[in-house]
Amino acid sequence: MSAGKLILAFGVQEGFPDGIAGMRERWGTSVLHCPYCHGYEFSGRKLGVLIEAPHPPDHAMLIAEWGQATLFLNGNNTVDDEARARLQARGVAIEPARIVALEGPGQDLSGVRLEGGRIVPIDAMFMVPRTRPGSPIAEQLGCAFDEGPAGPVIRTDAMKMTTVPSVFAAGDAAMMMHNATLASADGVMA
Ligand SMILES: Cc1cc2nc3c(=O)[nH]c(=O)nc-3n(C[C@H](O)[C@H](O)[C@H](O)COP(=O)(O)OP(=O)(O)OC[C@H]3O[C@@H](n4cnc5c(N)ncnc54)[C@H](O)[C@@H]3O)c2cc1C
Repeated sequence: MSAGKLILAFGVQEGFPDGIAGMRERWGTSVLHCPYCHGYEFSGRKLGVLIEAPHPPDHAMLIAEWGQATLFLNGNNTVDDEARARLQARGVAIEPARIVALEGPGQDLSGVRLEGGRIVPIDAMFMVPRTRPGSPIAEQLGCAFDEGPAGPVIRTDAMKMTTVPSVFAAGDAAMMMHNATLASADGVMA
């Protein structure tokens, strides 16, 4: 197949932390990334926040706007004294232990099972997963990438052309911020 111009719009794929059972199947239902998209449904309820390096713990400060928040460090993250004081002043509980599983009926969430068997009750878990392009095509074509807050993003100019002439890219795969309206507008520009 040949074409004079190509638009890459294959979105991104999320990567989840290893070793946590029950996470992937709850993605988009009770495991969530955007408090503005899902915060209302879970307002006033028990909320977890899972951070993975290099994300700072500040996400938990935001989630605490919507409900009683617990920050899960999952055994491999640390919070410095200054951040800990800020989180505690905001009423955020901090749970250092490694997470073994998310539990609850169907895609709902009722609690987080920690190493050792203890269960912390929560109704939803917010996290910022690492993302990667939904297809290897951009890499195969030799497009340059920038490192975004959640993963690599195809580099484009103001007209959405990648670093490879006549190859354009739009949407999540080519944007630092993942949002349906922005992705749609990006496609219009491309
Ligand atoms: C759980 C969740 C909730 C969200 N909630 C909101 C919300 O409330 N509001 C909001 O604005 N945004 C929300 N978003 C973000 C929004 O979904 C994305 O920003 C938007 O869908 C990106 O559009 P896109 O077209 O770039 O990518 P996508 O919607 O991911 O579409 C890419 C398409 O390309 C296909 N594809 C991949 N590889 C190939 C290939 N090689 N050949 C052919 N097709 C291929 C994929 O199957 C997919 O259908 C949410 C995202 C998630 C994960």
